[in-house]
Amino acid sequence: MIVLHKKSKNIPCDVCGNNCAKIVLLKEFSLLRGTVCSLLIKGFIGDTKYAIKKSNFNTLLQYFEKEAFEKIQDIDQEYASFYCKECKKCYCTEHWTRQVVYEDGFYDETRGICPNGHEKRLDD
Ligand SMILES: [Zn+2]
Ligand SMILES: [Zn+2]
Repeated sequence: MIVLHKKSKNIPCDVCGNNCAKIVLLKEFSLLRGTVCSLLIKGFIGDTKYAIKKSNFNTLLQYFEKEAFEKIQDIDQEYASFYCKECKKCYCTEHWTRQVVYEDGFYDETRGICPNGHEKRLDD
């Protein structure tokens, strides 16, 4: 894989200033797969890697530059799950009260409640 474009950014928590997550946007090229774009969210409920559409790469890049998390969540709410839309703030995992939901004994999703009581899905 040849890295064509890589951009990373740390997102601080609006309560404590600790890192919510490190965002990495990656555009790579391989002979087998062609151009592959991915988004890595590190340090927020572990590390997660998403394959993203090539057509979304530049848009996401711009949104992360401008910290337009609301717009990012319009693309996919999991791409910026540390962000609370109601508060318009970012919170680290310390400040999301997490609840793991099981269905029939299997992991279903992680729900989070922000410091102001807004609840949403963080991960599934
Ligand atoms: Zn925090
Ligand atoms: Zn909130």
